[in-house]
Amino acid sequence: MTTATLFNYSYNPQTGKNPAPAPAHVRRIVIVGGGSAGWMTALTFAGGAPAQSLIERGVEITVLESPTVGVIGVGEGSTPWLRGFFDSLGIEEAEWMPACHATYKCGITFDGWSTRPGFERYFHPFASMLDNLTMTQFVHNVEARVNGANVYAHPDRFFIAARLAAEHRAPKAPDSFPFDVWHGYHFDSVLLGQFLQRKALARGVRYKSCHVTHATLDDSGAIASVGTREGETIGADLFVDCTGFTGLLIDKALHTPFVSFANNLFNDAAVALPSPIGTSIPSETVSTALKQGWAWKIPLTSRYGNGYVYSTQFCSADAAETELRQQLGLLESDTPARHLKMKIGRVTKHWNKNCLAVGLSQGFIEPLEATALLFIQQTAAVFLEFLEQGDLGEAAHDRFNQQVNDHFEGTRDYIVTHYKTNTRTDTEYWRANAANLNLSDDLKRLYSAWMSGKSIVPGVRQQVIGKGYPVFSWYAIMAGMGVFPDPDHLRPATTQEARYNMAEIDNLLSRSRVNYPVHRHALARIAPRRTDESLQIYLW
Ligand SMILES: Cc1cc2nc3c(=O)[nH]c(=O)nc-3n(C[C@H](O)[C@H](O)[C@H](O)COP(=O)(O)OP(=O)(O)OC[C@H]3O[C@@H](n4cnc5c(N)ncnc54)[C@H](O)[C@@H]3O)c2cc1C
Repeated sequence: MTTATLFNYSYNPQTGKNPAPAPAHVRRIVIVGGGSAGWMTALTFAGGAPAQSLIERGVEITVLESPTVGVIGVGEGSTPWLRGFFDSLGIEEAEWMPACHATYKCGITFDGWSTRPGFERYFHPFASMLDNLTMTQFVHNVEARVNGANVYAHPDRFFIAARLAAEHRAPKAPDSFPFDVWHGYHFDSVLLGQFLQRKALARGVRYKSCHVTHATLDDSGAIASVGTREGETIGADLFVDCTGFTGLLIDKALHTPFVSFANNLFNDAAVALPSPIGTSIPSETVSTALKQGWAWKIPLTSRYGNGYVYSTQFCSADAAETELRQQLGLLESDTPARHLKMKIGRVTKHWNKNCLAVGLSQGFIEPLEATALLFIQQTAAVFLEFLEQGDLGEAAHDRFNQQVNDHFEGTRDYIVTHYKTNTRTDTEYWRANAANLNLSDDLKRLYSAWMSGKSIVPGVRQQVIGKGYPVFSWYAIMAGMGVFPDPDHLRPATTQEARYNMAEIDNLLSRSRVNYPVHRHALARIAPRRTDESLQIYLW
């Protein structure tokens, strides 16, 4: 029961075609905020080729950025979807990755979240074409173990990405080995913002350094203009709020209600600190559970980015910084740490009147699975589709907001599962997370199906819970954390249950992995992408 999913990343600039007419009613777009969200949105609208560009079709796009409020300056890991973002703009890895000190990411290791023997650490892989050969075996074995059979079901031995990450290899095979791995990236977030800005300006986006102080509403309650501290009044047909957690337009001007996720995602603060990178560069993020939260370790070509995400209910900023420094061996170091607050949840309407909120202004689910840039990318891209179709009425607003909200809720539930399934007992923080009963109905149903040996596939495929992550990711997290109904009383597997030979899978992956180069070497010679590349994966 596998599902073939085709990801086609090929870049197909329609340079020869006449531009389509500009969307009616929207001639001027003002984006307030010049962080990753502001520039990604500007580039999405500016497009990858003249025929796709709103600017080429007469729409004026201006980014306003405060000279006094900085960008958040964190956010250094991505999902594989970022690859599609650059491809759609015709920007090569060979151009942007060195400029942003970027590295490849095969997935994330979760270390120390579970204390179940044999499951203290697992890898959440990005899928690959090779997984088409091992995904069925993984799902089969997990289902057998959920039903009490003593078969091997830890995810790490089933996925090529786990092998590549363990050996610091890059997910980039040569043309002679045509099995692509769906990979993400790590990058310096400040350099990424600067790169995107340069690209956007080159594609005709206008820029103004000014501090927006307020918005003026028209009779219908829509935004007519924004006023700046420099004394200007700037009007537009569409305003995009990319002002980060401030939410200057979507919140302060339009008072769009906010749904907090604080009752099941406790973390609301972080402390970040760089450390030197050694000679070998890993191709994974490591998320290590600490006493009051978790620490990220993200390899760039120039340094590691590290940070500790914690809850201020359970831990002070000083204690968090000390624990992070201890973990990194930097207790005596004078490298300054940055402390950040996080607002966890989402607005009810990401598109409210003539205002679109993108980035931290629309909401944030903590960074455990590095999903924030994906929300930015999808919010901007889906909105552009509505705009292109001239679909701007109330019903369109509702459909759009429902879609974005479902994505938020589905992703939230996946992140909650990391905490809910933890078995640490060392601090009140972890005990409270495990005991937390504030779960969505979807999530309760999923846990109940899993623990009674029933299939979770229909639930994930049909309900909001599947809008964030595919079935295979749910299998990876539950099996990776060692969540099985009665692990102490496993029975011998039947012949049918034990039909897959782990030695064969080991052999296949061991033979395959040598086709992928050492990560550091791959980064030293990033080649232009093969054209018309498509990636066919059974994601389950
Ligand atoms: C601890 C932490 C870790 C994270 N890790 C990840 C990760 O691994 N992966 C990931 O995808 N995301 C991550 N994120 C999220 C990511 O950092 C953000 O989604 C991303 O940087 C986009 O931010 P932004 O552009 O919305 O906001 P910001 O970067 O805060 O930018 C806001 C912009 O608005 C401007 N502005 C503000 N007020 C005004 C005003 N009055 N007038 C004019 N301009 C104004 C500012 O000048 C700035 O340019 C993380 C976030 C945090 C807090």
